[in-house]
Amino acid sequence: MTLDATENTKGMSCCIFCKSTSGLFTTREHVLPESLGGGDWAVLPEGLFCNSCQNRFGSEIEQQALGDYPFSFFRVFIGIPTKKGKAPWFKSWEGKIYASFLPGILGYDPAPYFDKVVLEGKKTQFRLLAHPLKPDMICRFLLKMGIEVVAWDNSKDVFCPKFDEARHFALTGEKTGKWWYLQREKIDMASYFVTHGFTRNELNENIQMKVVRLDGEQEIFHLKLLYLDMFVPLTSMIIPKIEGLEEPEYRLFWV
Ligand SMILES: [Zn+2]
Repeated sequence: MTLDATENTKGMSCCIFCKSTSGLFTTREHVLPESLGGGDWAVLPEGLFCNSCQNRFGSEIEQQALGDYPFSFFRVFIGIPTKKGKAPWFKSWEGKIYASFLPGILGYDPAPYFDKVVLEGKKTQFRLLAHPLKPDMICRFLLKMGIEVVAWDNSKDVFCPKFDEARHFALTGEKTGKWWYLQREKIDMASYFVTHGFTRNELNENIQMKVVRLDGEQEIFHLKLLYLDMFVPLTSMIIPKIEGLEEPEYRLFWV
């Protein structure tokens, strides 16, 4: 959706990613994309995200991250329609898996080599690879959301230099050190929502984005999507503490 360009001539606009003050600032940005359950409540205040950065994130990062695990699974399991109102889907070597919008039922178009066995009812199990193909895109996508949440909470804090590495890596993919994200998947809860469905209220109550401040000014972004929790450091030098966090519920990805 595009806002009237004149809206942004009042007040000072400054992009939270490239820090440009001269670009165009005419787009509307959902901090949480609509395809992950974001709505009007998740819109970034105006003048903080320039059109050129939004374009770059939209075409380079967001698309790849939303099509990758765990977001691809989440969208299909939970059945949030795409922007065009279509069923979300992902591909695997088993074929195409898509949302049916009915609790407990998923759509399935078998890959050509499985056509026959599926028709004959001989194939009753499916194995899906629960692993991201591009963890760096997932990480950059989380960093982008995290930076936006900082801006959402306080549009001055976000320009603090301690976030510079995170914003630079999110925008360009260039990094000086290692980044990571931690994922927690509550399988029981996932099964519950997939089998029983959920109301819009339940969805809203179980979706959360927040930035947690640790000692020494370090900050971590936490995204909660029903059964899925994702954590990413917004400042460098945070060492993940994962003792006692067992796989497969908890998984740490270095990028
Ligand atoms: Zn920008």
